Amino acid sequence: MNVHNLMEDVVIKAVNTLYDRVKGENVAWLTCDCENCRLDTVSYVLNRIPPKYVVSGRGVTHNAEYLASAQLQADIDSLSLEGMRTVSSTKRPFHTENRADCEIQSDGAQSKPAFNFFTFTGVVLDGNTFEPVTSAKITLKIDGKLAEMVDKTWSNPYTLVPSTKGVYSFWVKSIPANESGERAYFNFSIEIEAEGYSESVYHFEVPIMSEDKIRDTLDSTYTLKIKDLVIFKK
Ligand SMILES: [Zn+2]
Repeated sequence: MNVHNLMEDVVIKAVNTLYDRVKGENVAWLTCDCENCRLDTVSYVLNRIPPKYVVSGRGVTHNAEYLASAQLQADIDSLSLEGMRTVSSTKRPFHTENRADCEIQSDGAQSKPAFNFFTFTGVVLDGNTFEPVTSAKITLKIDGKLAEMVDKTWSNPYTLVPSTKGVYSFWVKSIPANESGERAYFNFSIEIEAEGYSESVYHFEVPIMSEDKIRDTLDSTYTLKIKDLVIFKK
């Protein structure tokens, strides 16, 4: 069986359309529109939209109603624009030499032992109705400090948008370890700020065993589902 995230097709199409349009307008902030920049923008959006898995080949017709939702389209467009701006404002020194190859070069750090984190995902609910909260700022801290994300396609703080139905996710950057097989505990906190609600903080501890190298590809089985976070109106 072959499953596929339907949102990939939708987002790739939206991002390409937007790049082509903005490029045609010659705006100053667009520094590059190569394949890598476009893919980074696609990741930026997909990291913020819940996946919609379907069995390959019979996706679109069964989900036509969901995909045609005006709210979903509006959220994808605004996230795509936000992603383009983020990607464009990141300095990429190799651009001037070869625009087709603007990937940031790795310094070989990938092969060093590291504590690799799960992607954290969860949902924020209203305590009175148990409906998802559609607008909130969510901040992830590690040992009291803002947690650094694995790359610029993830953001912290994270802002919920209506079509994501209260779902947020984070992927924390790996932390160097002395050797593989080292065990350590990391203290995380999630702070939620939403208009009209009392501020809420949730603490959790994650034990991690270090591995021999930095994990740099997304593995959907390596996800930690955080318990539902409930916030209350003031
Ligand atoms: Zn580029």
